[in-house]
Amino acid sequence: MTTDEQELLDYDETDEQSTTGNHASATGTGNNGTIATSKIQNGSDGSLQPKIGRGTYVSIHASGFKDFLLKPELLRAIMDCGFEHPSEVQHESIPQAILGTDIVCQAKSGMGKTAVFVLATLQQLEPVEGQVVAIIICHTRELAFQISREYERFCKYMTQVRVAVFFGGLPTKNDEDILKKNCPHIVVGTPGRILALAKSKALNLRHVKHFILDECDKVLESLDMRRDVQEIFKLTPHDKQVMMFSATLSKEIRPVCKKFMQDPMEIYIDDETKLTLHGLRQHYVKLRENEKNRKLIDLLDKLEFNQVVIFVKSVPRCTALCKLLSEQNFPAVEIHRGMPQEERLLRYKEFKEFQTRILVATNLFGRGMDIERVNIVFNYDMPEDTDTYLHRVARAGRFGTKGLAITYVADESDAAILNDVQSRFEVQITEMPDEIDVTTYIENR
Ligand code: ADP
Repeated sequence: MTTDEQELLDYDETDEQSTTGNHASATGTGNNGTIATSKIQNGSDGSLQPKIGRGTYVSIHASGFKDFLLKPELLRAIMDCGFEHPSEVQHESIPQAILGTDIVCQAKSGMGKTAVFVLATLQQLEPVEGQVVAIIICHTRELAFQISREYERFCKYMTQVRVAVFFGGLPTKNDEDILKKNCPHIVVGTPGRILALAKSKALNLRHVKHFILDECDKVLESLDMRRDVQEIFKLTPHDKQVMMFSATLSKEIRPVCKKFMQDPMEIYIDDETKLTLHGLRQHYVKLRENEKNRKLIDLLDKLEFNQVVIFVKSVPRCTALCKLLSEQNFPAVEIHRGMPQEERLLRYKEFKEFQTRILVATNLFGRGMDIERVNIVFNYDMPEDTDTYLHRVARAGRFGTKGLAITYVADESDAAILNDVQSRFEVQITEMPDEIDVTTYIENR
């Protein structure tokens, strides 16, 4: 891994290597209530059909959230969120999850995995003063923040439930004060800070009943994070529910996930073509490195966008491109791990609240982040692998909405990665045409 790539993550992955080779490879079918997702009747895009638009899925199972027999306070909050029908992954996993079953779940990006564990924990939660009962760990601070917001959204009518989010880059003292004076029932955070708080005894994990890893492959592939997660795990009681989620769960990482679980329900997508987002148009532009900026300005001028994320490969490039765009009258904000945490969070909030429309980002923003109005993603620099491509472009086209992904191909190695993406996910990434019908990449046109 190059220095640039290391810079992109909250954790360095310098000593990362495959440690999973000794495990028996998971079959993904059969045992322990495994669901072979290929057997589920999908639409051509792997989602429920017919599809009308965001939040208006007509379920082939004709089930609504009310069929899950959730608490009335939860159902009310779900209605307030405008969720009408559960997505396929919600339909498959919520009934099991609310019974306390361990779950390892792969589902395509943007189809509502967060709501699965948020609803499942809130449904089972009986808040006891001074006890943390659910812990949710993920790989970046912004994602932790986003998840905590989702909890707040859904526990709106469960007024006694408290949620807190803890991550590095901000003073530990604040977290310690919250834990002491206003102990949360649900804690979301990144591994390092959670472990530090647990070790200092500020965070008591002895009452934890639900242990959740989001973007679990990312968390467990990095040896630093895996070590921290294992330590945190050991501080929690033996009897608890463990749930893990990601859009990408390689056969190598599955046994690592399952080591944390007892008799889990396993939901895998072994047919990787089902991970493709069919609401998303995907194109490439062949150009030289020194033509990237000019082309970007042209395209931003020409295309219609609500919000755009532009991915680059390093922190210095992120800063430079953001500055350049702003000078060219495209007000942009940047987000990367080189910024002070307060500023990072501020930029994220501004973008989420639609105060800014162009975000230049490193891989820090490539996974999990859910910004509803993003309809265009640029790979200004080619992602380093096919997983990263899949996660990045899924920032557009959330929950089955339309979107456009444009990837720059500047050399042979870029072309090789794009070819790998095409063959792995059986997706046609064609050369960017001169004209694109706006109705194909923007919702409600
Ligand atoms: P994932 O974690 O699978 O990538 P998210 O949990 O971030 O996806 O969900 C993507 C978006 O879809 C979020 O904005 C979420 O609020 C929305 N969403 C989730 N479930 C539903 C639903 N059943 N109906 C409508 N919107 C939903």
